Amino acid sequence: MTTLTPILTKNWNQPDSFTRAGYEREGGYQALRRALTLEPDAIVQAVKDSGLRGRGGAGFPTGMKWGFLPPSSPNPRYLVVNADESEPGTCKDIPLMLANPHVLVEGVIISAYAIKSNHAFIYVRGEVLHVIRRLQRAVAEAYEAGYIGTNILGSGYDLELVVHTGAGAYICGEETALLDSLEGFRGQPRLKPPFPAVAGLYGGPTVINNVESIASVPSIVANGADWFASMGTEKSQGFGIFSLSGHVTRPGQYEAPLGITLRELLAMAGGVRDGHRLKFWTPGGSSTPLFTDEHLDVPLDFESVGAAGSMLGTRALQIFDETVCVVRAVLRWSEFYAHESCGKCTPCREGTYWYKQMLKRLEAGQGSEDDLDTLLDLSDNILGRSFCALGDGATSPVVSSIKLFRDEYIAHFEQGGCPFDPAKSTLWA
Ligand code: NAD
Ligand code: SF4
Repeated sequence: MTTLTPILTKNWNQPDSFTRAGYEREGGYQALRRALTLEPDAIVQAVKDSGLRGRGGAGFPTGMKWGFLPPSSPNPRYLVVNADESEPGTCKDIPLMLANPHVLVEGVIISAYAIKSNHAFIYVRGEVLHVIRRLQRAVAEAYEAGYIGTNILGSGYDLELVVHTGAGAYICGEETALLDSLEGFRGQPRLKPPFPAVAGLYGGPTVINNVESIASVPSIVANGADWFASMGTEKSQGFGIFSLSGHVTRPGQYEAPLGITLRELLAMAGGVRDGHRLKFWTPGGSSTPLFTDEHLDVPLDFESVGAAGSMLGTRALQIFDETVCVVRAVLRWSEFYAHESCGKCTPCREGTYWYKQMLKRLEAGQGSEDDLDTLLDLSDNILGRSFCALGDGATSPVVSSIKLFRDEYIAHFEQGGCPFDPAKSTLWA
């Protein structure tokens, strides 16, 4: 039986967990003191050896990404933290920054030192005002303590850290759209390559990492790469925060080694709500193909979830019981993608609009079986033809729901309406 590994979440139950005093009482900023005695390249090597992979969803090896920075450049190099968490169901970075902002700040300082950058930004969602204030306060406290600024702790290393707020667009979580937005432009994805590591913010070499990835760095410096690599699975090492939401008895954030199963997590979270059974769930938010109760024992690591036909993504485990109409759930997500599509490329801009229109009709019981084939055909024209991952992600719930629940779609137009009673569902009423 896998057990929880509270590391980033270990102080969340302390009333002053978000203050510098509270963080330091638990050993906070000791990793920074140690890091500043090491050569920057030794820290990059430790992160490579730890096996840490991007916790924003894609799982790209963090140390390898850092290693892509050119050794010299006429432009300054930047560290940017992607704190624009917006994937439906994903709720790990925002609670982390709210409860333990200093672990992120410490991670930023160590990571910026490791990649030899003197300028760092945290790009945070504009809607989460309370989180922004906590983060700004934590950064101010770190400046006051001499952890940020000039000649940090007498090491000769300088760093400026800016908290920048977005304006509430899902696309600004895409790393290059985020850079455009940070530069003051409308956030739309850039063509890759060049990857940000080569030409990123203001054209300078830029490392962009997710909040949880950067927040994991202090623990690697403090405990060693082997300690981190000893957790998780062979290719998905370490721990991560799994957010459980929906029809679960105790929703919340569960920090555990990668490779834990939903069955194990549900046992810790009190199971599916009383008197109900699991119908479907998302392993990594709405951009990942749906799973059902057949997938309860799939280890939640990058390889196993991929082999089972989905993606680990952001570990946003949204649980839906038998009261939920899958067509309605997919319609709701499709409305989200149509609203958030940035409009730059035709397959996504037009395709997500047509998803919304067709699913509305189907959910109202006005479609036909031909519409399902049209939806699948439309999906073929979005997947792999969109400019960025948003378009691809929009196809996941549509295609997988038709594959898994075709009969439920058919029941809608056979009965001339939705066969579910929305009053019985706490989610979709
Ligand atoms: P990606 O696989 O294209 O890239 C992952 C990272 O690796 C990027 O930082 C990229 O710059 C870097 N990279 C990849 N190849 C590289 C190379 N050859 N040289 C240098 N750097 C390289 O994925 P992506 O489009 O950045 O992200 C997609 C993921 O985002 C999805 O898996 C999804 O789970 C996740 N996502 C997360 C949220 C959220 O709220 N956290 C929202 C939407 C999507
Ligand atoms: Fe914009 Fe969608 Fe195209 Fe991405 S896939 S560039 S979000 S229109």
